[in-house]
Amino acid sequence: MIQGFIARISGPVVIARSMRGSKMYDVVKVGEAELNGEIIRLEGDESVIQVYEDTTGLKIGEKVENTGLPLSVELGPGLLSSIYDGVQRPLPGLAEKSGDFISKGIYVPGLERKKRWTFTATVKEGDNVSGGDTIGTVLEYQLQHRILVPPDKQGTVKEIFEGDFTVDEPVCILEDGTKLTLMHQWPVRKGRPFKKKLDPSLPLLTGQRIFDTLFPLVKGGTAMIPGGFGTGKTVSEQTLAKWADTQVVVYIGCGERGNEMTDVLTEFPELTDPRTGLPLIERTIMIANTSNMPVAAREASIYTGVTIAEYYRDMGYDVSLMADSTSRWGEALREVSGRLEEMPGEEGYPAYLATRLSAFYERSGRIMCEGKEERQGSVTIIGAVSPPGGDFSEPITQSTLRIAGTFWALDTNLAYRRHFPSVNWIKSYSLYLDSVNEWYNANISGEWREIRDQTMFLLQKEVELQEIVQLVGPDALPDSEKAILEITRMIREDFLQQSAYSDTDSFCPLDKQLAMLKVILTYYDQMLSSMNRGVSLRDLLLIPVKSEISRMKEQTDIKKINLIVDTITEQVDGLEVQACSSIV
Ligand code: ADP
Ligand code: MG
Repeated sequence: MIQGFIARISGPVVIARSMRGSKMYDVVKVGEAELNGEIIRLEGDESVIQVYEDTTGLKIGEKVENTGLPLSVELGPGLLSSIYDGVQRPLPGLAEKSGDFISKGIYVPGLERKKRWTFTATVKEGDNVSGGDTIGTVLEYQLQHRILVPPDKQGTVKEIFEGDFTVDEPVCILEDGTKLTLMHQWPVRKGRPFKKKLDPSLPLLTGQRIFDTLFPLVKGGTAMIPGGFGTGKTVSEQTLAKWADTQVVVYIGCGERGNEMTDVLTEFPELTDPRTGLPLIERTIMIANTSNMPVAAREASIYTGVTIAEYYRDMGYDVSLMADSTSRWGEALREVSGRLEEMPGEEGYPAYLATRLSAFYERSGRIMCEGKEERQGSVTIIGAVSPPGGDFSEPITQSTLRIAGTFWALDTNLAYRRHFPSVNWIKSYSLYLDSVNEWYNANISGEWREIRDQTMFLLQKEVELQEIVQLVGPDALPDSEKAILEITRMIREDFLQQSAYSDTDSFCPLDKQLAMLKVILTYYDQMLSSMNRGVSLRDLLLIPVKSEISRMKEQTDIKKINLIVDTITEQVDGLEVQACSSIV
């Protein structure tokens, strides 16, 4: 084993000498306290190490041991519902060992060692297996956890067992003596292999109207949520973690305040998945590296999270990963880079910021899994970005923009007016509109795209009209344009606004979303044609059904929402009859 000594300490960065033979990204134990760290630069016999734990108290001259292993995570049953720090140490386990303040150098394995899992084999003696093949299954909550041959292993099955096993007991032995267990390790900085990437054509439904209907995301896609302080990034990420239609959710609280993470931890166990009725916590893995925790571990938390996500993807599941916030991750890169005295790029961020960001987002995708059995899986990445002062021209927002397929721009003005989610419909976009068309047509309605585009057209028109109104007042507009302003107000208030805290409305199924929009657009069409037949705008604006429209959000019976269309027609027809009789 390579053993050196500490020559310099600068915050989370330690320089060790006498380290010749070390490799990049080797994990090291630093100092007498054996703090976890990772080699991030090599110079002669010197290793530059980022340390994942608080370095106060370390002294020059203390030993540094190289484990020779890359930073890895443990993958196997028991991940679901776990809460980890940035390097996969279970937080409850840590607290048990060291109290509320995590003491240093403590090792707690990522997967619980005592628990036994019932393993059902799906291969038999003599079968040839290789990376990605399923050798059996374990039930993890309600999820069929496939035990896969690790990507780098292959051979002929010599012995296969069944029954109850801990994660590190062999369940299968290959001819060459290789023992396969329920768990295996995988280096976090290395993407897990797959057969091929598939086109993203399946939407990732979120139950959020502005996302699903106007700016859809796909399974295997990427989305960014930039927004200034208090615009709703954390609430959005948490709402998505609750309602995204994926079988597994990895939630990374990265550098944000600790109490936000506590909110998730206390709320999730009480919520059930609207699609399966199962507790949400049973499909969720949390990684908490909050602002009070060491900065270098924040850098690692992103990789730990995405590697766990890929592991469930490889079983053939859809996984979504939320990271709040990638800006805090970028700041960790900047801090470490500064300590390394690297040449700073824009705003002090390292020149490799954009490369690192895209390497992370590139680990998303819908893929054909490794292994004989045909399976598809996906990892969708949704990253919050917190630009200082809400200024989107800063480096992290700009670099992420070039990568993300969906741009959900949060807006300080909307948040200030308490329009939530504060997604700005003019600035936001989705590059997946065409990709999901077919699925929406087949599964929801052939009208979706038309309705969506008409809604966007009206919202864009509203911006123009509001400019005119500001210049010359509302009276300058013809009635047909005043009608647009009323319709867009309804789109904003009765459709786009969606409270994350409403029991009935925090999740809105896609067919309800479309039904709601159809009601509003029907009202618009009826207004236009009725005005042509002599009905006054004032009367049309006062029809009683409007109060029903404004209560659609709380209406859970979609049939009743569809009926509003008929009520609108009836009431508008009534006005036309009146208008005709008054002319006569
Ligand atoms: P950020 O993470 O961007 O700083 P938060 O997510 O903490 O902001 O949101 C700030 C506040 O905005 C929340 O405490 C909540 O009151 C409000 N808010 C944000 N999004 C919503 C939403 N979808 N529904 C209701 N309230 C929201
Ligand atoms: Mg936040």
